[in-house]
Amino acid sequence: MIHRMIKIHFPDGAVREYQAGISSLEIAKSISEGLAKKVLAAKVNGEVWDASRPLQQDASLQLLTWDQQEGRSTFWHSSAHLMAEAVESVFPGVKFWVGPAVEKGFYYDMDLGQQKITEEDLVVLEKKMNELAKQNNSYIRKEMPKQEAVSYFQQKGDEYKLDLLENLEDGSITFYTQGSFTDLCRGPHIPNTGFIKAIKLTTIAGAYWKGDEKNKQLTRVYGVTFPSQKELDEYLAMLEEAKKRDHRKLGKELGIFTMDEDVGPGLPLWLPNGTIVIEELEKLAKETEQAAGYKRVVTPHLAKESMYLTSGHLPYYAESMFPPMELEGQKYYLRAMNCPHHHKVFAAEPKSYKDMPLRLAEYGTCYRYEQSGELFGLMRVRCLHMNDAHIYCTKEQFYEEFRAVNEMYLKYFRIFGIEQYVMRLSLHEPSKLGQKYVNEPELWKETEELVRNVLIKTGTPFVEVPDEAAFYGPKIDVQIWSAIGREFTLATNQVDFAQGRRFRLEFTGQDNTPQTPLIIHRAPLGTHERFIGFLLEHYAGKFPLWLAPLQVKILPISDKFMDYSKSILETLKNADIRAEIDERNEKIGKKIRDTELAKVPYMLIIGEKEMLEGKASVRRQGKGDLGMIEVDAFLQNIVAEKKNRQSEM
Ligand SMILES: [Zn+2]
Ligand SMILES: [Zn+2]
Repeated sequence: MIHRMIKIHFPDGAVREYQAGISSLEIAKSISEGLAKKVLAAKVNGEVWDASRPLQQDASLQLLTWDQQEGRSTFWHSSAHLMAEAVESVFPGVKFWVGPAVEKGFYYDMDLGQQKITEEDLVVLEKKMNELAKQNNSYIRKEMPKQEAVSYFQQKGDEYKLDLLENLEDGSITFYTQGSFTDLCRGPHIPNTGFIKAIKLTTIAGAYWKGDEKNKQLTRVYGVTFPSQKELDEYLAMLEEAKKRDHRKLGKELGIFTMDEDVGPGLPLWLPNGTIVIEELEKLAKETEQAAGYKRVVTPHLAKESMYLTSGHLPYYAESMFPPMELEGQKYYLRAMNCPHHHKVFAAEPKSYKDMPLRLAEYGTCYRYEQSGELFGLMRVRCLHMNDAHIYCTKEQFYEEFRAVNEMYLKYFRIFGIEQYVMRLSLHEPSKLGQKYVNEPELWKETEELVRNVLIKTGTPFVEVPDEAAFYGPKIDVQIWSAIGREFTLATNQVDFAQGRRFRLEFTGQDNTPQTPLIIHRAPLGTHERFIGFLLEHYAGKFPLWLAPLQVKILPISDKFMDYSKSILETLKNADIRAEIDERNEKIGKKIRDTELAKVPYMLIIGEKEMLEGKASVRRQGKGDLGMIEVDAFLQNIVAEKKNRQSEM
């Protein structure tokens, strides 16, 4: 018997030969048993497959484990099937719609007929799922002719799956079975249910069929699963901690921001304490940008329709913009982005190569229409203040400019104690040039290579995402994790070789010919809204000294020490420290507790001994009593701590 051999290309560049028909799982086993136990799925020529599916042709192969997003998604989607099996056994006659993986976990939409799922049922279902998971049932894939699939669900009387089948072509239909449950699904799935070791069903919600409120309301059950109990426990503990650190709760308690019915949804009002945080962030940005050679500009919050036709925001981005205002026969739009205004600043005066690179910065206010259902605290709003800048440069300057932008991100991460981050580099897809992507094959290749090199040379962690670039150039989405391990998308950083041309931006080159600049869009601190929302969770409301709205609270033990307290207050204020005296006629214990709750970094407790010796008893938030210190020495210390923007307590 002759065995046909196929060539498998691995991500590290290795190429090995195997017999045709081998599965990714068997390949993993041939590498190591340990690896095989972790393989959840496989990426074959860029497409995620069941690890158990046979490979018949030469292919590129990446084994997917829990460490890859696609591995986790496959795990969670397979868990949705497991949940469906449990639901079917407890609620016979249930009909299922779709059951995708979501950012963290999965859900399945179902029609329970006359039956109803309650919170107590979730515990029963979890138990059933655990039982079924332990049976190590394989997810078995079966290709199915359309007619056979249709008659299967006709017999079952399942109008939902029949509806899904209507849009599927014969030859592309697959069924998956694990244990006693069979589902119409294109896959992929994990090898067997035994991988699912820890299960938590979290929420029951209503969801209209196909998202249309005219349709029947289905029941949506959410859950999350993990390959170990330890990971589930950690996740639940993180959720518990996140609840305590909820930026909406802390934002209210600390007087950071508020919302008002009359102002409108998604339009936060920044209170005095929040405004201090904003001003400190802007001070940091201005110092940093000035040192990096940026110039500041100020531009209006709105512009005429014609500018957004030039930029292409209209009509393509219209549904994210507020509707237009009519004035003197012209339409005006609130801006959703600052770029077009900055391009106009660039174009205002003739430019030569000597003016390049030109870096224009502005904390720009933008307005975006988000559906009311999408609004969420400071994270999804309709008015945002962006740490924006646009860098106009020549091709030769691009590498250095991009490197400097990356450096700025890393500097900010150090200041804010952001230890976990990753840059998602989104690339173009050459076959879609001229449609999804501006038709500049050479520029795409060059800039992608330059951006990649910056990330590699600076040791910045990054992943590459094919076919997700912006229309006009590669982009980098910055993902950061808060101190409790929750993920946030901070900002996007984009290369742009289209807008310059659309706006006819030009500079005179060294050879006297007109040239179009490359543009870098960057916003390392994102928007005040999202970034302060993140910081509230990250610091649990305990801002470092330099950001804290109130930095020092002076607590006299009694009125006798008020004059001395006032003289200390004077000294602190002269040194630009934000300080106050607790003048209330309360016991010192209560004053200390209240100041702790207000999360003020330093307290100075003033009594007889302190007054006589010209000192103060210092308490540090989170550290407790630091002992009696001379007022001048204390002042020197905190002035230095503030100036250095120390983030550790
Ligand atoms: Zn499936
Ligand atoms: Zn921009």
